[in-house]
Amino acid sequence: MSWTEPSPTGTALLLLGRGSDPAAEKGVDCPGELPAPSDPDLVARAAAAKAALGDRVFVLGHHYQRDEVIQFADVTGDSFKLAREAAARPEAEYIVFCGVHFMAESADILTADSQRVVLPDLAAGCSMADMAELTQVEEGWERLAELGIADVTVPITYMNSTAAIKGFVGRHGGVVCTSSNAERALRWAFERGEKIFFFPDQHLGRNTAVLELGLSLSDCVLYDPHKPGGGLTDEQLRAAKVILWRGHCSVHGRFTLDSVKEIRERVPGVNVLVHPECRHDVVLSADYVGSTEYIIKALDAAPAGSAWAIGTELNLVRRLAKAHPDKQIMFLDRAVCYCSTMNRIDLPHLVWALEELVAGRVPNQIQVDPDTAYHARVALDQMLALP
Ligand code: SF4
Repeated sequence: MSWTEPSPTGTALLLLGRGSDPAAEKGVDCPGELPAPSDPDLVARAAAAKAALGDRVFVLGHHYQRDEVIQFADVTGDSFKLAREAAARPEAEYIVFCGVHFMAESADILTADSQRVVLPDLAAGCSMADMAELTQVEEGWERLAELGIADVTVPITYMNSTAAIKGFVGRHGGVVCTSSNAERALRWAFERGEKIFFFPDQHLGRNTAVLELGLSLSDCVLYDPHKPGGGLTDEQLRAAKVILWRGHCSVHGRFTLDSVKEIRERVPGVNVLVHPECRHDVVLSADYVGSTEYIIKALDAAPAGSAWAIGTELNLVRRLAKAHPDKQIMFLDRAVCYCSTMNRIDLPHLVWALEELVAGRVPNQIQVDPDTAYHARVALDQMLALP
């Protein structure tokens, strides 16, 4: 069935990083000479460079990445699957991560010291990860300590956070979670403490606490790092079961209740399937909610002729529509909704990175400092050990 392209939006979805701090999630401008996007030989150049590197390079492609880049990926998946795939290829000297900065950091933490992780464009950051900085998180924790409740609080961070936040969580006895195992992570934490401090995605934290664990909305409070004391009173912090960090995904946060109502009126019988990074009211109004891998499996299992409106990143939805021509697959919003920072990694950047490697130079290497990496690994290993 035919795919309908959403309308272009007139506004930039994300602010793009500009700066000089390579450790910042927003990243920095790409150095060096990039091939022109109009170069007709880009596909051939990427193929030639990849062939020249052979098993020494392993290219990872996140599900939200552009088709022009995905065609060169040795494996596609979500951020955690990709990091594990890289760790399972110790023979690959170079891991070229077509994703965003925090994903490349996780790959660096999980791979051997001899493997070098390359992000083809250092400006490929994640706006959500940027919303929780280490100093802000430490300030929030200090507030809990002053109230005497830090000892009964277990920190959890979503995979979509910087290595510094994962390290903080590892230092304080917490765990990393993905959108697939958030429920197990929260249950594990409640066996060890009375409260959870959840970073940085308020929506995943709220949706999991309320819809999976059966807590009420009033059990959750929102900690705003830009307000004194997080904008919460001592009583609110003492009473809360889940303290949600005020962060969100700029892509999934765009879907609204109106998008759901509009598609249900336009396509009677449509199945609405959304990612748990969407707002709580959107998730409540959907028929199904699940991670990227869940969405892919749900569409694989869907009967021919069924209609689906999907609330996740556009590149993935477009590819799923192409892969299932016997089903009517639509984008939930009428406007374009790419992860624009991840989409900074285009074919010219991939060609540039691969050709630099062929020339014996390692461009844009992502390295997490050993102390942060150690503690982040503790929190990641705890995730792998979740019951
Ligand atoms: S889709 Fe959202 S959470 Fe994922 S990388 Fe882009 S901004 Fe970050």
